Amino acid sequence: MDNLSETVYDIAVLGGGPGGYTTAFRAADLGLKVCLIEKEPVLGGVCLNAGCIPSKTLLHGASVIEEAREAASFGISFPNPSFDLESMRNNKEQVISKLTKGLEVLRKGRKITLITGKGFFTDKNILSVKTAEGEQRISFRNAVIAAGSETFRLPGIPEDPRVWSSTEALTIPFIPQRLLVIGGGIIGMEMAAVYNALGSSVTVIEMTERIIPQADADLVRPLFLTVRKKYRAILTGTKVDKIETTPDSLKVFYTGQKGPDSGDFDAVLVSVGRIPSSRDLGLKEIGIESDEKGFITVDSQMRSSVPHIYAVGDITGGPMLAHKAVRQGKIAAEVIAGKDSRFAPVSIPSVAYTRPEIAWTGITEEEAVRSGIDFEKGSFPWGASGRALSSGSPLGVSKALFDKKNGRLIGAGICGLNAGELIAEAVLALEAGLTAADIGRTIHPHPTLSETFAFAAEIAEGTATDILQDTEETGRSG
Ligand code: FAD
Repeated sequence: MDNLSETVYDIAVLGGGPGGYTTAFRAADLGLKVCLIEKEPVLGGVCLNAGCIPSKTLLHGASVIEEAREAASFGISFPNPSFDLESMRNNKEQVISKLTKGLEVLRKGRKITLITGKGFFTDKNILSVKTAEGEQRISFRNAVIAAGSETFRLPGIPEDPRVWSSTEALTIPFIPQRLLVIGGGIIGMEMAAVYNALGSSVTVIEMTERIIPQADADLVRPLFLTVRKKYRAILTGTKVDKIETTPDSLKVFYTGQKGPDSGDFDAVLVSVGRIPSSRDLGLKEIGIESDEKGFITVDSQMRSSVPHIYAVGDITGGPMLAHKAVRQGKIAAEVIAGKDSRFAPVSIPSVAYTRPEIAWTGITEEEAVRSGIDFEKGSFPWGASGRALSSGSPLGVSKALFDKKNGRLIGAGICGLNAGELIAEAVLALEAGLTAADIGRTIHPHPTLSETFAFAAEIAEGTATDILQDTEETGRSG
């Protein structure tokens, strides 16, 4: 018996992460017949199962612990917080389970066919799926590849239960007394925060000159000053050479600013980037082009080099973020349904959910300088914000960059409590093409952290009253 599906699907979506399930849901809402193929037993992809959601759940727990410890500065004392690791793990699993079950409800409600198994292209209009019941062949008019990304494994790093990727670290196998985090990017710094709150002595090794190198140095500084006091060491400009395993420890050899050195650790988290899950999909055989790293090349309608096959999310390259995957998924579904949608965001915000948080959007100041853009900058220190002080978060900054040519916002960054929430206003302002006057004259509620973004815009405009500003108007210039 031929195992080719009787139905010819309007869209076959390969991968059920944020990019894939969004594509499938939007397409079904637009009246298309959809088949979703996912190799794992649940939908949600990395984001729900081994990324955004578990990390944020653990970070919330870590924040509660830290807040309890810091409450003494408000005159409130708690006994040193204790925690039950099993309950923390269970809570995280429950959050994931609620969300993945919710996705199942949303899928079934839309009558989307789900096939559980590993899929690959055997033809430009057929996907083969290895399921528990055998191989199934799915016939489609259009396909959307949303197979995501996976951890990059550093060559030469030994296989050992004490050497973790972020996926293993999120299961909290145990709390190491001495944890080394290789890679001081967003994921590395978030996991460092979790383990430090749970009691690990954390060392971070980062190859570039600073942690979270994608963000401007002035945004990263408040985080650096905070964690420098808490962690055992932050070794920037440092490269790991090799790791030797002994029964008692992991001996890590590295070369840093002061030359070669080594240290003993009880666990090592390797967090040095992610690669596309584009191997074994049969892409080359059907003529789908990808770059030298394996990311699928797409146009602004998410179309690959094979016009009826699209790609969305991490597999199309950076920034590898869930909200980008979701937006791209909607575009692909709409284009297939005949709409003239395009992926052309003015900016895609990034957030490090550390303590303090760092969030930025649009052009960074360093990029603006490098590109020779003539810009006006407003930067407001949180030490002058009533709400930041009353919330015990004076170490922060909000800044906004405006193009001098047309006065419009071109980039913004915030470091401080809830920066990840606060940046949304800047994203909207960027998309809407607002100026410093538009933002500064918008009445923000007082006392809030959101005011600090308006103050940054006022500083750029020269109308700020919450700090002493030297301008021609005030007569204090120079
Ligand atoms: P994925 O989520 O990777 O989903 C791809 C799916 O395809 C997976 O379910 C996979 O099983 C399936 N698949 C792959 N190959 C096949 C195949 N051959 N057949 C069938 N199925 C297949 N992003 C944020 O925006 N905010 C955050 O706070 C954040 N935190 C993160 C924390 C960590 C620790 C990590 C690792 C990532 C984090 N991310 C975060 C990134 C985010 O998880 C990804 O950008 C997002 O999941 C990408 O979605 P996607 O749909 O492209 O791919």
